[in-house]
Amino acid sequence: MTDGSTSTPASQVRLRKALDAVPAYVAGRPAEAQAGITAYKISSNENPYPPLPSVLDVVREQAGQMNRYPDMGVTALTEAIAQRLDVPAARVATGPGSVGVLGQVITAFCDPGDEVVFAWRSFEAYPILVALAGATPVQVPLTSEARHDLDAMADAITDRTKVVLVCTPNNPTGPSVRTAELEAFLDRVRDDVLVVLDEAYLEFVTSDDAPDAVAIHRARPNVAVLRTFSKAYGLAGLRIGYAVAHEPVAEALRKAAIPFGVNSLAQVAAIASLEAFDELDVRVKELVTERARVVAELERQGWELPDTDANFVWFPMGERTAEFAAACQAAGLTVRPYGTDGVRATIAEREANDRLLEVTAAFSRD
Ligand SMILES: *Cc1c(COP(=O)(O)O)cnc(C)c1O
Repeated sequence: MTDGSTSTPASQVRLRKALDAVPAYVAGRPAEAQAGITAYKISSNENPYPPLPSVLDVVREQAGQMNRYPDMGVTALTEAIAQRLDVPAARVATGPGSVGVLGQVITAFCDPGDEVVFAWRSFEAYPILVALAGATPVQVPLTSEARHDLDAMADAITDRTKVVLVCTPNNPTGPSVRTAELEAFLDRVRDDVLVVLDEAYLEFVTSDDAPDAVAIHRARPNVAVLRTFSKAYGLAGLRIGYAVAHEPVAEALRKAAIPFGVNSLAQVAAIASLEAFDELDVRVKELVTERARVVAELERQGWELPDTDANFVWFPMGERTAEFAAACQAAGLTVRPYGTDGVRATIAEREANDRLLEVTAAFSRD
């Protein structure tokens, strides 16, 4: 055997130019051990609770079949989702996480040069998926309250626009869009532009004027809803999400899927989680209660933060983003800093939330 590393000629392969425009996904870092204190990962908006025993049981049982391919049609889960939402199964398309489904959306809709409009900052997978397709991301700045500027987004639509992404509640800033402003926006969007309502945090929403996305989808052929089992349902590691879209779109999403992309453990775990929703909902409600406690205490401490309808809070720290993230890290909390915009911290175990409140109380904002 020879060591090829010194003699291999330089690669001549021709990668797509589009890759040059693809930003790297910055994943939330794992918790870092600190001497004498428990470390918490509050950087990825995961559910802090361990899986339900009933869900673990079906996953363990299914694991014995992992030599077999999964059901490519994801039939039983698709049926279960359709029943739960009271929509035809033909309108449900699944994928490996809702990021996977969104990739299917972009693949199905975008040729090079086509435009995808979304708010910024928003979910960081958006510019990656759009750039991978060679399409053009059109990023519309959030308002000063860290909300979607839906008027500006409607203004940003051109002849090249194929898709608009509306992230509600918005990751990483927290506010939901309001029903009235969303309806007014949709009235302004051409019928041949798909609007995707990304509701990854739907189960945590408590504001009364947040939209009923499935109802809006029913009334409008160009509206699709994107949902995930990763957050409230606690299945982030299994990768399963879905879209509810009118038949021609849902069919296209199934066509654009990677064959066998949704694995068999994810399929059975998602079905068991839908069946155990009442049990999961107790946990969701506890997290919502914790969020209210954290937000109230932050207000008492004098912080002025955007509203949050999700399982995280946003600290718009500007130039002090890195410093604030470092202060959290020193206290054993791994948060998610975003450049010089701000820091996102997940609502997690009570002890982690208490620790966060200690850091925010001690952090000088002068
Ligand atoms: C976490 C998140 C998702 C879900 O991603 P999965 O691929 O389903 O794990 C989708 N959209 C937003 C805005 C998110 O924050």
